[in-house]
Amino acid sequence: MKNIRNFCIIAHIDHGKSTLADRLLDFTGSVTEREKQEQLLDNMDLERERGITIKSHAIQMDYVHEGEEYVLNLIDTPGHVDFSYEVSRSIAACEGALLVVDAAQSIQAQTISNLYLALENDLEIIPVLNKVDLPSANPEEVTDDIVDLLGCDPSEVIPASAKTGIGIQEILDAIINRIPAPTGKVDAPLRALIFDSVYNPFRGVETFFRVINGTIKKGQRIKFVNTDKQYDADEVGTLKLKQQPKKEIKTGDVGYLITGIKDAREVKVGDTITDAENPTTEAVAGFEDVKPMVFAGIYPVDTEDYEDLRASMEKLQLNDASLTFVPESSAALGFGFRCGFLGMLHLEIIQERLEREFDMTVITTVPNVSYHAFTNKHPDDVILVNNPSDLPDPSTLNRVEEPFIKATIITKANYVGPVMSLCIEKRGEIVNQTYLTTERVELTFDMPLAEIVFDFYDRLKTVSRGYASFDYSPIGMRASHLVKVDVLLNANKVDALSALLHKDNAYDIGKKMCEKLKELIPRQQFDIPIQAAIGAKIISRETVKALRKDVTAKCYGGDISRKRKLLEKQKKGKKRMRQVGNVEIPQEAFMAVLKLN
Ligand code: GDP
Ligand code: MG
Repeated sequence: MKNIRNFCIIAHIDHGKSTLADRLLDFTGSVTEREKQEQLLDNMDLERERGITIKSHAIQMDYVHEGEEYVLNLIDTPGHVDFSYEVSRSIAACEGALLVVDAAQSIQAQTISNLYLALENDLEIIPVLNKVDLPSANPEEVTDDIVDLLGCDPSEVIPASAKTGIGIQEILDAIINRIPAPTGKVDAPLRALIFDSVYNPFRGVETFFRVINGTIKKGQRIKFVNTDKQYDADEVGTLKLKQQPKKEIKTGDVGYLITGIKDAREVKVGDTITDAENPTTEAVAGFEDVKPMVFAGIYPVDTEDYEDLRASMEKLQLNDASLTFVPESSAALGFGFRCGFLGMLHLEIIQERLEREFDMTVITTVPNVSYHAFTNKHPDDVILVNNPSDLPDPSTLNRVEEPFIKATIITKANYVGPVMSLCIEKRGEIVNQTYLTTERVELTFDMPLAEIVFDFYDRLKTVSRGYASFDYSPIGMRASHLVKVDVLLNANKVDALSALLHKDNAYDIGKKMCEKLKELIPRQQFDIPIQAAIGAKIISRETVKALRKDVTAKCYGGDISRKRKLLEKQKKGKKRMRQVGNVEIPQEAFMAVLKLN
């Protein structure tokens, strides 16, 4: 146990976490030349393309330091707020963290939020000043920022370049010298923390764990404490670049477990593994059942594909336990599913996977958060509103509550004004303002989740010219005055376009929605009136003017292949359209409310 070090790397996005991980693997000889690939840890295609680590993984390195053999377990953490619970569980499995800060960008919102998570778990923090090779690096200033943030000595900050290899030796020495070895009771009943799981279509769910007390052995009868289910440990092992089966994994170490579980939902991150016959009396603290934060309808473009879509969603759920779905129907779109996601990135990932892995073409409706409604008749019974159409009749409504978050924004002093205006426009209330340095300010707001899941990031980027970083955490439900805004196309209400909005913004957003829909809905042979309404009251109106000419008219007399090409192009464009009444609605229109200026 004394020669094990468990650590993670925490950083703001793009500060070099993945590059540093690769460099450490290199340096410790954990990868052969042949296995070398950019960003080894990001092994899902989607992750590599997006350049972000979606799921966390762990990897073990062997390293000899002053003649002693050490085992270093690097536990990777996802780099996006959608997955912050997983980050917290990975951090809980470690004794130390490398806090990577870009020497040109300095401390950003995620640096701080991840640091807080690490400090809550009493991790030893090793500050790494990365990218010192960059001409734009400000090593002295950024070191000062880090020293201010951590209250450490400047000599503790390790200057490094994950790109050129500067400082890698020093980082490894610090991991061994500064991070404490795990402690735990070798003779106590098995107690292991599940910090991640991955679905493998051939082997079932692979569970990644950190042993806190005792030993987990191949063939052992084990129990998951929170789900109260028992399994046989068919295989346990360590996580080298490939999995290496072992007879047992001991106190303090990190490994994987295979039990033949075929459904990702049975393995809950944060759960405790124990011995079935001789269970631990104490589950690992911090377990939460993660709940979806954002909901949207997913419908097949072709109504005939409904059953295929259901089968695809079921398969997706087997390997992504945080996805939820229930059947729903829409007058406009027919049969589909109301799906729950951890956040907007998660929604995009699911949508992409449906298309890539399952070859489904789907329409996604405007996402919304989950509201709580209470009626006058039963003012204590929560009605979950995951779809605008679930909102009870306004005349019977007692109150509505919506989820709030604490938002942390770090920006430059000269952008404080515009950032504040934006947050206030988004119904934010300022809670705190701290100057980290004379140049850099940390702003904290309480804000409705609904306002930030959508276009907030883009707006923030614009008003701060890119000099703002952002992170958030949920703080519970608060009362809110919401109204349902409906959209009528050609006098028909299109339920899939309805949105729940705060009453103060409803008129303005309703108007902008009509304007946006006018841009997005293709012209046809007749005028298409677009109206926004609250109840029976029309609050805005636009018209898509009728088309004058046949689009192919200009090809008459021209060569036939050109005409065919044009028609084919039209057909392709049609792929993601839905005919509602006699109006064609493209996919973008269902998201229009998110793209208002
Ligand atoms: P992550 O989002 O924290 O995992 O960051 P990545 O490791 O993906 O790095 C983001 C970008 O910074 C990539 O283009 C890297 O090549 C680059 N990068 C990482 N470390 C260094 C470094 O030490 N020096 C320079 N110049 N670029 C680096
Ligand atoms: Mg990365």
